[in-house]
Amino acid sequence: MHDSGDSHSRAKSVLVIGGGVAGIAASVVLADAGFRVLLLEKRPLLGGRASSFVDPIVGERVDECQHGTMRCCTNLADLLERLGVHQQIDYCDTLEFLEPNGRRSVLRGSPLPAPLHTLPSFLRFRALSLRDKLGISYALLKILGTNPHRPLWEQQSFAAWLTSTHQTPTAIRRFWRPILVSACNEELERISCAHAFFLFQTGFLAHPKAFHFGIPKVPLASLYTEPTLDYLRQRGGCVRTKTTVKSIEVEGQRVKEVVLADGERLCADWYVSAVQCDQLGHLLPRDVIDSDTYWQKVLQIPLVPILGAHFWFDRPIACPKAVAVLDRRIEWIFHRSHNLGKDPQEGSCLSIVISASYPYETMEKEHLKSLLLEDLAACLPDVAKAQLVHWTLVRWPKATLSPAPGIEALRPPQKSPLSNLVVAGEWTQTGWPSTMEGAARSGYLAARIILNQEGLPCSLPVPDLPKTGLARWLLRERTKR
Ligand SMILES: Cc1cc2nc3c(=O)[nH]c(=O)nc-3n(C[C@H](O)[C@H](O)[C@H](O)COP(=O)(O)OP(=O)(O)OC[C@H]3O[C@@H](n4cnc5c(N)ncnc54)[C@H](O)[C@@H]3O)c2cc1C
Repeated sequence: MHDSGDSHSRAKSVLVIGGGVAGIAASVVLADAGFRVLLLEKRPLLGGRASSFVDPIVGERVDECQHGTMRCCTNLADLLERLGVHQQIDYCDTLEFLEPNGRRSVLRGSPLPAPLHTLPSFLRFRALSLRDKLGISYALLKILGTNPHRPLWEQQSFAAWLTSTHQTPTAIRRFWRPILVSACNEELERISCAHAFFLFQTGFLAHPKAFHFGIPKVPLASLYTEPTLDYLRQRGGCVRTKTTVKSIEVEGQRVKEVVLADGERLCADWYVSAVQCDQLGHLLPRDVIDSDTYWQKVLQIPLVPILGAHFWFDRPIACPKAVAVLDRRIEWIFHRSHNLGKDPQEGSCLSIVISASYPYETMEKEHLKSLLLEDLAACLPDVAKAQLVHWTLVRWPKATLSPAPGIEALRPPQKSPLSNLVVAGEWTQTGWPSTMEGAARSGYLAARIILNQEGLPCSLPVPDLPKTGLARWLLRERTKR
C-alpha cells in the first residue's frame, strides 16, 4: 500500500509529536497510506503513559503502571494487530473479585444471549446479597434502555443516579464502584451518567465477549516500541526517541515548523500533536492559545491521579492473573510474573493499582508501602509468609481526564484551528473514556482528517463489536429515549 523509491520521496510528509498510543496509531495509518512519517518521542521507549521503564534492580522493563484492556476495545485491537503483537494480549473470559477474607466472586460468560450472558455467574456472585442483586439488575435494565448521548446524562453525576435507583450501599461498594472507578479513573460522584451508561452498554451488555479482560504478556514498552520502529521503518518512516519538541512555530493559521530542545528545526506538510493535553500549552505560542477557545478549553481539562506499585517477593504466591479487590485501599492486583510467563520458583511479582488515588498523592512513601503490603497480606495469605525483595511506586498526578459531568464540552475535535495541524490524544473527542482504546481512536481520527483532506479514503475508526442477541434489539431501541 505504501509508495517506495521516487514515488515515496514525492509523498507528503507528516511530523508526529508524541509516541504514545495516539501518536503511534496516527503514524501507522499515515505510513500505510504512503506518507513519509517522522515520529518524535521525548522518552527512550514508546507507549507514553502505557509504557515501561528499565528497573535498575531487576534489570528489566517494568510497566509504569499495569494496564488492562477489554475485547470491546476494537481500535486498540486493530492497532496491535497491525503491529503484529495482538497475540501478546491474554484475554480472560472471567472477571474475578476478591474479598479481604479470601472469598472470591466471578463474573463469567455463558451460552445465554447478550445482555444475559453473565447472568448465571451474577446470580452466584457471593459478595452480593439477593437484595443487592435485584437493585443492580433493575439499574442495568434502565441503563440498557437509555440513550447515553442525551445532553441530560452528560450533566448528571452517576452517584446521584445510583441514589435515585435505590442501590444498596453494598451494591455501590462492591459492584458499581470497583467496575467504574477503575475503568473511568474517577470517583462515582465525578463520573457523568453518560460515561457510566456508555461503559456498561459497550463493555458489558452489547456483546458476550465485550467484557473479556486483556492482560499484556509482555511489558507495555515491548508491545509498542520495537514493533512501531519496525513498522514505520518498513514503510519509509522513522522514529526518533529521546527527542523533545520545544515549540511549535505558527505563521498565520498554519504551523511553520517545530523546534527541538537542541535547536534543530523540522518542517513537514502535516503535523500531528499527540502529547497530553496539559503539554500543549508549553508547545504553542501564547498568542495562538489566547486567540481561540479551542486551545483554552484544552488547558482546562481536569486530570485525575492513579497510583501503581510493583512488589517482588522471594517465593511463589497464589494469586489470580488479575483480581479486583473489594473493601480495601488496593483496587486491583495483577500477578505480573505469572502473566509474563516467569518461573514461579524465581519468586513472584505482584502489581497493584489504585485509581482516582487522591488520598495517596502526598502520603509518605514508606507509610504508603506499609498500607499496601497490609492490604496484599489481607487478601493473599502467601504474602504474609513471603520476604519482600524489592518494590517500586509510580504516582501519576495527572494520569487521565476526569469523566466528570460537563467534560465533553472541553474535549476538542481532532481538527484544530491551524490548517495543517491535527490533534490526537485520548482526551480529544473520541466518545470513549481516557483509555488506550480512546488514544488509538483519536490517532485514527486524526489520521483520517489528513487522509480526507488529501482526497484519500479512510474507513477508520474500526466499528464497535456488533450488538448481538437481545442486546441487538434492546440497544437499538435506546436511541429513541
Ligand atoms: C497510571 C495509569 C494507568 C492506566 N491504566 C489504563 C488501563 O489499565 N487501561 C487503559 O486502557 N488505559 C489506561 N490508562 C490510560 C492510558 O494509558 C492513556 O489513556 C493512553 O495511554 C494515552 O495515550 P496518548 O497517546 O493519548 O497519550 P500519552 O501516552 O501521554 O502520549 C503522549 C506522548 O507524548 C510524549 N511527549 C510529550 N511531550 C513531548 C514533547 N515535547 N516532545 C516529544 N514527545 C513528547 C510523551 O512522552 C508521551 O510518550 C492508564 C493511564 C495511567 C497514567
